Amino acid sequence: MKKQETSTPLGTVPNGAYYGAFGGQFVPETLYKPLKELEEAFNSAVSDSGFKKELSQLLSDYAGRPTPLYYAKRLSAFHGRCIYLKREDLNHTGSHKINNALGQILLARRMGKKRIIAETGAGQHGVAVATAAALFGMKCVVYMGSVDIKRQAVNVQRMKLLGTEIVPVTNGDATLKEAVSEAIRDWISDPAGTYYLIGSCVGPHPYPLMVRFFQSVIGDETKKQIMKKEKRLPDYLLACVGGGSNSIGFFHPFYKTAVKFIGVEAGGTGGSPENTAASICYGSPGVLHGAKSYLLQNREGQILETHSIAAGLDYPSVGPEHSFYHQSGRAKYVTVSDAEAVKAFERLSKLEGIIPALESSHALAYLSKLAPKTKKNAVICVCLSGRGDKDMAIENKQASGGKK
Ligand SMILES: *Cc1c(COP(=O)(O)O)cnc(C)c1O
Repeated sequence: MKKQETSTPLGTVPNGAYYGAFGGQFVPETLYKPLKELEEAFNSAVSDSGFKKELSQLLSDYAGRPTPLYYAKRLSAFHGRCIYLKREDLNHTGSHKINNALGQILLARRMGKKRIIAETGAGQHGVAVATAAALFGMKCVVYMGSVDIKRQAVNVQRMKLLGTEIVPVTNGDATLKEAVSEAIRDWISDPAGTYYLIGSCVGPHPYPLMVRFFQSVIGDETKKQIMKKEKRLPDYLLACVGGGSNSIGFFHPFYKTAVKFIGVEAGGTGGSPENTAASICYGSPGVLHGAKSYLLQNREGQILETHSIAAGLDYPSVGPEHSFYHQSGRAKYVTVSDAEAVKAFERLSKLEGIIPALESSHALAYLSKLAPKTKKNAVICVCLSGRGDKDMAIENKQASGGKK
């Protein structure tokens, strides 16, 4: 989609589509109407108390919310600061992705759609969508790069078991970026009957706004929980940033407070931009998959192949709202390398008996850099976006390969 997109003139984009200079609807004309219908359906759903009631019931009885805000005593002792973990790993299907999948599937049903499509990289979003589709008896098709199908065999098996059809995407790098492009092509071919369920706060408006809305339950809960435990707001919120959905859902409810936000991007093996997946730290503004945001691109605007040990962070762009937070200085964005993330993965497992996702391990790894620079009584909340069972084989390989 990167070359042939028609830009929408800024003036015709509805209000709320932009975050400063970022966001918008850079899509072919055939998608103008479906996006307008989606926006209207979303606006009507979120002002309908019946919709909100059904969603919150599903989140509690099916997904297992609220997730705990856990005081990590031994990790706190290790870093010498007070550290809490927001346990999104305890959600049904093992990550925060289910919050968004359940919200959007209710919206799809409300719009009368019968067929759900999605793209997936690591398979976590694909599993969440396949789960939600099974729950509502809807037909589900997931686009996945053939390289990712090999890397994430267990999640592929889970999706199939849940009744979802997997379509392998073999062009380009055959990873997430190509899977997104294929899903957009599918949607263009049948926008009336198909609901495209995007898994992060990326894509054309209203997706970034919708995904933030459905993920804000993370920050809303954290705010109540920390007030109860500490009688004050935290000093820092720390979260990993792939597309940026767990972080934006964690951060946004604290937007108007003095709480500092730190987004941790995948530094990969470092050295040059293509050895990372750090769109903000190593990228520049451009247009990909329907929105203007920071991208990893070359001087001609060609999208770079990215690398991260965490498949869920391996995407060359980021949600437009993060680009805005970066430019305005509301949040700070940093990187952590593959090796540092693996170290943090092992540390949390040993100190707390919690095996974190490699994605979440990036946020945990940054504690080693952040903690020494903070006041002794600082309170830091980390979003533990998912559990790490899926990453055992990768961690194993890295650990043995990395031994001297
Ligand atoms: C998908 C995923 C991420 C990255 O996606 P965001 O949209 O940036 O949240 C992070 N952690 C886990 C566990 C994931 O599955």
